[in-house]
Amino acid sequence: AEGTLAEIVSHAKEYGFVFPSSEIYDGLAAVYDYGPNGVELKNNLKLLWWKAMTQLNQNVVGIDAAIFMHPLTWKASGHIDGFSDPMIDNLDSKKRYRADVLLEDKAAEYEKNGEIARAETLLAEMGRLLTAEDLAGVKQLIIDEKILCPASKTGNWTDVRQFNLMFSTQVGAVAEGSSQIYLRPETAQGIFVNFLNVQKSARQKVPFGIAQIGKAFRNEIVARQFIFRMREFEQMEMQFFIRPGTEDEWYQHWKETRRRWHEAMGLPADKLRFHDHDKLAFYAKAAVDIEYEFPFGFKEIEGIHSRTDYDLTQHQTLSRKKQNYFDNDVNPETGKPYGNYVPYVVETSVGADRLFLATLCQAFQEETIVEGEGEEQKTKTRKLLRLHPAVAPVKAAIFPLVKKDGLPEKANEIYNSLRHDFRLVVEEKDSIGTRYTRQDLIGTPFCIAVDHQTLEDETVTVRHRDSREQTRMPISELRAYIGEAVSV
Ligand code: ATP
Repeated sequence: AEGTLAEIVSHAKEYGFVFPSSEIYDGLAAVYDYGPNGVELKNNLKLLWWKAMTQLNQNVVGIDAAIFMHPLTWKASGHIDGFSDPMIDNLDSKKRYRADVLLEDKAAEYEKNGEIARAETLLAEMGRLLTAEDLAGVKQLIIDEKILCPASKTGNWTDVRQFNLMFSTQVGAVAEGSSQIYLRPETAQGIFVNFLNVQKSARQKVPFGIAQIGKAFRNEIVARQFIFRMREFEQMEMQFFIRPGTEDEWYQHWKETRRRWHEAMGLPADKLRFHDHDKLAFYAKAAVDIEYEFPFGFKEIEGIHSRTDYDLTQHQTLSRKKQNYFDNDVNPETGKPYGNYVPYVVETSVGADRLFLATLCQAFQEETIVEGEGEEQKTKTRKLLRLHPAVAPVKAAIFPLVKKDGLPEKANEIYNSLRHDFRLVVEEKDSIGTRYTRQDLIGTPFCIAVDHQTLEDETVTVRHRDSREQTRMPISELRAYIGEAVSV
């Protein structure tokens, strides 16, 4: 059986994946810390994304831009004027909600009841009103849909207001001469403003991409669903710069490539779907979300956007620095080089934390197993994380069967011979069954048992997490065996 969100949250805490931030002070809403296993899993996800982008594509290079940026950046990007969510307060409960989330939840309720057309009509109407910035219309829709406040079961709503999501702070002495700056709400702008620096220094030709992993901050009104919507989170974004006119094929290319990647990482095809945006930004040519079916429904994990030359042109206007690229390639229609232009952009943007949550939801399982034979036979349940070995925090645990006769020494010898290649642990305490259980709970794909026979013939027993099957194997084959399993 798959887990509920509540089970996954408690599992994540108990086994060192995710803790509420500053928990001893009762936490800070929508902020979380990653524990010892969580940081390994998250690093593995990030590294695999980084490899898929920069190592598998010679024309994609990385950067690591600062979180703080010149304030005009956010003017150019539209975040100062337009980066806001429509919010609404309930007068009885004094709780604040995102108007669009209330409506989305209602649509999800319809969808769950099989009223697909009704759900689609509601979402389309919401999209229309939000695009037209008709906030009174949004409120009316909430009233018409008889949406009650979840906390107090009333429909006593205030008007809908726009609420900017950027966090601001000061640079310089706070009194005189200080200026207000923002914590970046997305990593993309660090890439746009470095477009020419990267293109020239890395001697890249269009089409080429710039990838980045980094923190982003949004003052989300609704903090819920664990690490799905956080106020401080991490994005993995790639901006792909292309010749105008080629955007449709590149959009298609990245859309398919990114979906295949999620499947390769262990998210099954039937739990992934594309969701085309109903409301497009005025400059956008196309936008699609890759959604994963979380325990709370299909939700976005990644966005792919065809953004035209909007961002570079905006920066060109505000910075007064040309963002042109000279394309030497010959246009077959004119027989002349394509020449100067501001490139178009197709971007892929995935949240590391949302991907982490999807991975954890997918991996978490509770199953009934039968142990023993005949009279001795009994059934029990086990919880485990069926993580892809490539992302598992620990690749193999080495267990000396007993704490004597030289078995711990042998286990440590194996550990030392493999620790440069894989993250391993040696565990001596408790029965072998208890040790297997502990590793299942954190998703370790292999347990290696060292017994007396090992001392005689240099073989060990490898126990597989998912099937619980055991295979006898020479120690000399372990590196290749684990290495094969952990590659994507
Ligand atoms: P949503 O509609 O869920 O708020 P978004 O469309 O605003 O998301 P984008 O701006 O496209 O999201 O950001 C790209 C990716 O960054 C998202 O697909 C998601 O994985 C991640 N992301 C965005 N906001 C958050 C957040 N508050 N917490 C965690 N991840 C986030």
